Amino acid sequence: MATHNCLPCGHLFGHSCIETWIQRCGKSDGKCPQCNKKCKVKDITKLYAPRIATADGDCKQQVVALQVENESLKLQVLPFY
Ligand SMILES: [Zn+2]
Repeated sequence: MATHNCLPCGHLFGHSCIETWIQRCGKSDGKCPQCNKKCKVKDITKLYAPRIATADGDCKQQVVALQVENESLKLQVLPFY
C-alpha cells in the first residue's frame, strides 16, 4: 500500500519525499514545491491508498518514450557482448 502525503494546499507528493523537502527548507520556512504556499511537517496529511493513478496522460507518455529509448540503447549495446 502506497503512502502519499497531502499538503494543506491540496498538492500531493510521494511518501517521505515532501517530509524531507520541508525539513530541508527549515522548520519555520517550509513551503509547497508546487505553489510555494507555506506549510510545516505537522501540516502534512498522510493518505493511504492502494494505488494512485494520475489523471493526465503525461506519465504514461513518458514511460512509453523511455521504453523506446531503452530498447534503442539495448540494440546499441548488444553487439559488443
Ligand atoms: Zn501546493
